[in-house]
Amino acid sequence: MPELPEVEITARRLDAAVRGATVESALAPGMNVMKTFEPPLEELAGREITAVRRVGKMPVVELGDLALLIHLMSAGRLRVFEKRASPKDRASRVLLRLEDGRELRLREFGTKQRAWAKLLPIGAVDEDEAVATLGPEAWPPPPLEAFAAAIDQPRHLHPLLRHQRDIAGIGRSWVDEILWEARLSPFKQGAELDGEEVERLHSALHVLGDAIEHYERTIGPALPDKPPMPLRIHKREGEPCPRCGTTIEAVYFAEHQTSYCPREQTGGRVLKDRRLSRLLK
Ligand SMILES: [Zn+2]
Repeated sequence: MPELPEVEITARRLDAAVRGATVESALAPGMNVMKTFEPPLEELAGREITAVRRVGKMPVVELGDLALLIHLMSAGRLRVFEKRASPKDRASRVLLRLEDGRELRLREFGTKQRAWAKLLPIGAVDEDEAVATLGPEAWPPPPLEAFAAAIDQPRHLHPLLRHQRDIAGIGRSWVDEILWEARLSPFKQGAELDGEEVERLHSALHVLGDAIEHYERTIGPALPDKPPMPLRIHKREGEPCPRCGTTIEAVYFAEHQTSYCPREQTGGRVLKDRRLSRLLK
């Protein structure tokens, strides 16, 4: 799933590629992808793309006084293509055909249709429920006090940091990297952290900025669907911890796997599987 660094580099590359381009026509082959009906997508014909930016994990395509707010969910990707999609491309969800022959395309892999888009007056984006309910952005890091307040909750750090209403932009992959960087257990609760631990977690958010810099160096103008992510801990169980050499362990929490260094994050303890039901998997 694209998280803050992946959506940020997507927005930056798309902004460079399509800002100033004029939309010839817009359509939504994806059934149910549009969550708004007024204004209609046809309103975009003849409009210029004025910016592509990111909020939380969502790309926003601005077209004058309208904006297309997109939620990629787990399998959506937004890219510009030199040629138009074949009508048979079943991955197509929203197509913005540009006058220069290119196409800005929201596609979704797999069989589920979960990605969505909303066409909104530009001033309504911040008030939209998907945006207004977001916690502070994880990058650039919020002020320490705001971060401390956001995570001061009696919930495990792994789900807490991924909960967009508490802090925006972090998902399953980067949460492992942030917790490893902070040397904190995924099962420690937000409200249990002392001041020094909150500071460590706050400063660990730099891994998101480092990832964006990595993508800036490694990703050219053409975005791949899945850029290799510079992850050091996530899904690296069985490999040595890059910092101390201890074997990285993995544990399931609900349906999510988390990877961690037992020596540095859990006081040497290997955590028990906390999946609600292993039979469901
Ligand atoms: Zn370690």
